[in-house]
Amino acid sequence: TPLARREVRELENYNAGLSSEQVGKRFGVSKIAKLGSNENPYGPSSKVAAAISNAIIDSGLYPDAYCELLRDALAERVGVAPEQLVFGNGSEDLIAILCRVFLDHGDTLVTVTPAFGLHTLYPQSLGAHIRPVPMLEGGHFDIDGLLESLIEPPCMLMFSSPSNPVGSALSASQLEQLLAVLTPATLLVFDEAYYEYAQGSLDYPDVLAQLSQQQTPWIVLRTFSKAYALAGLRVGYGIVSSPAIADLIDRLRTPFNVNRLAQVAALAALQDEAHLKAGLETTLRERERVNKTLNEMQLTVVPSLTNFLFFKTDQASETLHEALLSHGVIVKPWREPGYRHWVRVSIGSREQNDQFLTALSVALQNSS
Ligand code: PMP
Repeated sequence: TPLARREVRELENYNAGLSSEQVGKRFGVSKIAKLGSNENPYGPSSKVAAAISNAIIDSGLYPDAYCELLRDALAERVGVAPEQLVFGNGSEDLIAILCRVFLDHGDTLVTVTPAFGLHTLYPQSLGAHIRPVPMLEGGHFDIDGLLESLIEPPCMLMFSSPSNPVGSALSASQLEQLLAVLTPATLLVFDEAYYEYAQGSLDYPDVLAQLSQQQTPWIVLRTFSKAYALAGLRVGYGIVSSPAIADLIDRLRTPFNVNRLAQVAALAALQDEAHLKAGLETTLRERERVNKTLNEMQLTVVPSLTNFLFFKTDQASETLHEALLSHGVIVKPWREPGYRHWVRVSIGSREQNDQFLTALSVALQNSS
């Protein structure tokens, strides 16, 4: 076989975690609590099913390459011009496109670690140089470290806030400090995949409002995968500082990257605000309950603005991961130096969360 590019040969595969099918087969358990991928346990609005069935008849036609109907509805909801939106086959599609458009071999990308895997994987695949800014102990963003990392302006600054996997977010004043030092040479990619969960919280800034005052280029990434429960249909979007950025993205995007069913599903999901609100409320309530129980177990937990919790135990994360799998519970173990005792667990339904908490307490007892 012909050899792949050196950057690709040196890459590690993205850890997408195990599927319920794999865990069921490997451990012989039938009741799986899949809490490793920050999915929404309640599923999408019932209006989504109706919209999809109506659209199936047109499956022989290519989708609208510009997502016109979804674009107009979303522009109104978000409060931006339709030309400021770009769409992806999930927001991960947009991350890949952004890297291909803006990062060249030898360019520098600043990111916050621990990070969402694709924030480093795609830049590395292109030969970009990663300048990581580690989170502070306790899970806070290191704003001084970030400011320092920008003294020599990178091509791109990309991080998630609220952070995946940590769950914490940059504050309004930290964001202001960051924006003050950015130059037009740096594209800010602000990944707000968990926006809806954080948005009602008093400590969470109006990122879009702050960015809208900014003269340097930026893009905010959001997704229908989490709060809208459409992870299986793959729709993400970006809000860009100017239509010129959208135009560049359009040049490298595959023309029909958001399929027909995904477009109608996202539109229907967007219109069912009651369903969204109910899911958010239950998730946030459950998150506080799980967090409290983990605290009672004397574990270190980072306060979270998202639909997951990042916590530390005495066990190696891989060992705990395996132990939980044998109880049918899937979580995401962290492997990088400094985080080998840290695990991320998504907030599922009440029943799934109970299955996780019971399995965790058995696993930790067995080890002590
Ligand atoms: N960004 C972050 C921070 C995420 O956590 C995820 C999904 N786990 C994504 C992007 C990608 O989401 P999707 O492609 O489903 O929109």
